[in-house]
Amino acid sequence: MFNIITKEGYDYGFDPSKCAACEGKCCTGESGFIWLTLAEMEAIASFLKIEIEDFKSRYLRKIRYRYSLKERQVGESFECIFFDTESKNCSIYPVRPSQCATFPFWDYFKNHIDEVVEECQVSYYPSNNRFLPSFASGCMRPEAGHTSDASGDQDRRSACRRQCDTL
Ligand code: SF4
Repeated sequence: MFNIITKEGYDYGFDPSKCAACEGKCCTGESGFIWLTLAEMEAIASFLKIEIEDFKSRYLRKIRYRYSLKERQVGESFECIFFDTESKNCSIYPVRPSQCATFPFWDYFKNHIDEVVEECQVSYYPSNNRFLPSFASGCMRPEAGHTSDASGDQDRRSACRRQCDTL
């Protein structure tokens, strides 16, 4: 039995029960950004039972006037500081930023379904009652091709939670 989540205005849905098989590939890969509001910072700090300033210094990096979660480099790849490499899950899932919670229903993807297909194996076409091709083949993780970012000098992936600055 599928548990397909859909959203008005989007030509796809997804089945979150399939995320376990994916092992968090939308939290890893190329370097990227997870932007946070002050309210999200406070919620995560509270969840971790630490002071907000401690949270900022340990887990955030400032990019111009905004804050993004830090990331770890693993070989030639990167992963979010809160990605649990053993369980392959988000370690702050109940208070994850809205950027993560709303994935893959971002306005950008309405006209870039191909990038959702490439990144998220749980994508699903409710209109014709079938999964997108990537469900059968699993996450493929091709590089999405965006090259613009906040600092202007590094490539960023686009089709994952850890978004490029142009979305
Ligand atoms: S905060 Fe977002 S990108 Fe980081 S591990 Fe959690 S869901 Fe993944």
